[in-house]
Amino acid sequence: MNDSIPTNPDPEPKERVAHSFKSLRELVDYVSGKNLPPVQSDEGRVSDTVPFPFLGIVGQQEMKLALLLGLINPNIGGILLIGPRGTAKTTAVRSLLELLPQVERSLCAYGCLPEDIEAGGIDAVCPDCAKKFAEGKPLTSPDNVRLIELPLNARLEDVVGGIDERAAIHERMRIRRGILAQADKNLLYIDEINLLNDDIIDSILDAAAQGSYTVRRGPVAATYRSRFVLIGSMNPEEGRLRPQILDRFGLRVLVRGLEDGAERLEAYRRVHAYMANPRQMANQFYGEMEAAAAEIRLAREQIKKVAIPDPVARAAIALIQKMGIDSLRTEITWFESARAYAAADGRMEATPQDLKAVAPMTLRLRRSHFMNEYFKGQVSEEKEMLALLSNFGKAGKGKKAKKKK
Ligand SMILES: [Zn+2]
Repeated sequence: MNDSIPTNPDPEPKERVAHSFKSLRELVDYVSGKNLPPVQSDEGRVSDTVPFPFLGIVGQQEMKLALLLGLINPNIGGILLIGPRGTAKTTAVRSLLELLPQVERSLCAYGCLPEDIEAGGIDAVCPDCAKKFAEGKPLTSPDNVRLIELPLNARLEDVVGGIDERAAIHERMRIRRGILAQADKNLLYIDEINLLNDDIIDSILDAAAQGSYTVRRGPVAATYRSRFVLIGSMNPEEGRLRPQILDRFGLRVLVRGLEDGAERLEAYRRVHAYMANPRQMANQFYGEMEAAAAEIRLAREQIKKVAIPDPVARAAIALIQKMGIDSLRTEITWFESARAYAAADGRMEATPQDLKAVAPMTLRLRRSHFMNEYFKGQVSEEKEMLALLSNFGKAGKGKKAKKKK
């Protein structure tokens, strides 16, 4: 992957080399407003696929920030990009490729890990891995986080896995890993998530929430890890998303078209430049992409140490209550995002400003009009019930008390 982007043979403009970034946000804002020198057309030369540089996407700061926070802290719990077609949602997700951090990954096709042996003994891994483990050989190696895209026509069997007819001997291993198991420690991207069948969505959300899932096929069962950052995109014109699915997404970004004419022109120029010469386009952002990748790596290490002081947390919860939001996922996401934001700035304590910076994407679309109306409708029934209950069991006593008097 590293050799796909050679260092830029042309010297970098001085102004860019001199610039240093205090925060991820500053980097995102800076690059969004940057003007590019014209790109020479390179038609006729075959080039390998180089993704559009993430930081080269014009505008859409909130979407970029949300995706970066998701890379820093997987506990944020999923990112939903909501907007019409042609607003760079899929481009942005795919362009994350160059920024993805590293994780320890199983070397085996069945996904055996040392943790499996710790938890379930030597039989919990395949015979090959058991042998390796006994010989003191590693079962994992560092690998880049990957972007797994769920195809729209995926069947439930593709998603969770099914019987593998070729592997017969080792009982546990007779189930073929599905897309969810492949997504472990990766990003799972579902374009047009609102068009997916309910049974598939439910299995994905359950697996994401639990971090693992079990497949049963007759007498054979297997449990797989599925700790992934879910990224969904949807165009609300093409159908709505069930409220319980919406609630499962930590961050909700409204991706609108660019409003500023000058930005639209710049976006057009960049797309044109990219189509003419993807590599040259990528090279123009090489320095900033490296800086962002380094920030993400560092922030992922530091996030464990970032705390939210109690008074700050209390004030945030009061605000959530004032907004009339019920779901506890709200504060979980809000706090985890603020911690990621603080970690990206190299701070060990999240401030009210950190919470404010990530608030809109964590708080919007949480309030349920249905539930509000539903609870309002319940008020009169509740009052009636409590009034009846207040005298319940007293009637007998009351009469006795009267008799005594
Ligand atoms: Zn194995």
